[in-house]
Amino acid sequence: MNGLMNGKRGLIMGVANNHSIAWGIAKSLAAQGAELAFTYQGEALGKRVKPLAAEVNSDFLLPCDVEDIASVDTVIETIKERWGRLDFIVHAIGFSDKSELKGLYADTSRENFSRTMVISCFSFTEIARRAAELMSDGGTMLTLTYGGSVRVMPNYNVMGVAKAALEASVRYLAADYGARGIRVNAISAGPIRTLAGAGISDARAMLSWQQKNSPLRRTVTIEDVGSSALYLLSDLSRGVTGEIHYVDSGYNITSMPALETLRV
Ligand code: NAD
Repeated sequence: MNGLMNGKRGLIMGVANNHSIAWGIAKSLAAQGAELAFTYQGEALGKRVKPLAAEVNSDFLLPCDVEDIASVDTVIETIKERWGRLDFIVHAIGFSDKSELKGLYADTSRENFSRTMVISCFSFTEIARRAAELMSDGGTMLTLTYGGSVRVMPNYNVMGVAKAALEASVRYLAADYGARGIRVNAISAGPIRTLAGAGISDARAMLSWQQKNSPLRRTVTIEDVGSSALYLLSDLSRGVTGEIHYVDSGYNITSMPALETLRV
């Protein structure tokens, strides 16, 4: 199918480089005709994002740090001025202090708990509320989560708690905005080697475990996530909202390691 996103304009938040999940999503949307705006966190990342945006024919780039709500407001105001409306947003933003993505969850500090929650969870709600004002003809919103929200993954710690709250936010926002024709969903991606992913202690072990023990016996790619995002952001999923859609090679359905890994 071609042109699934023709005439649709959307905001992509969370591209840091060409390994970012948000970049995998941006590529698949652009290939189907979407017009994209990008945010970047700070000028150093902006230098990386600019040429990527150009690859998908976008010159619409805006700085945004979600800890600074004024920068979020400026993004929304600038989109309103230039486009007048929005059809979709992608929120692929997460952060927690690396020093707490190892060891015991119980040792999480109050400061990092709050910061992780604001950046990785509450920012989606703050952005959704503002973006909804530009979605007068309906729209779609997508965020990224991880299975450490529902099951304990070593070292994921406070990020797992933030992702659980993010997933709950998806359901509440879907209920809030459903009557306005705005759908809100999340993709729960399996582990992928990215900047954020590398912040989690023993990330390599998690990747190798997933590869050996998921039903598809492989890790997922940013292109895998991009294809599923295309479904969730396009009219193909017009009857779907409040959903946490797993793109994890089926890992979430398993209850024990693959038998071949146990045989000696
Ligand atoms: P990434 O490092 O490429 O992207 C993370 C993005 O978050 C970066 O662009 C960074 O600039 C942005 N960010 C962090 N703090 C910010 C702030 N204060 N303001 C604005 N932006 C900020 O890594 P990624 O793996 O592509 O992460 C994207 C999303 O996918 C995250 O929510 C992450 O938790 C989630 N996710 C990642 C994996 C994985 O294994 N990589 C798996 C499941 C879900």
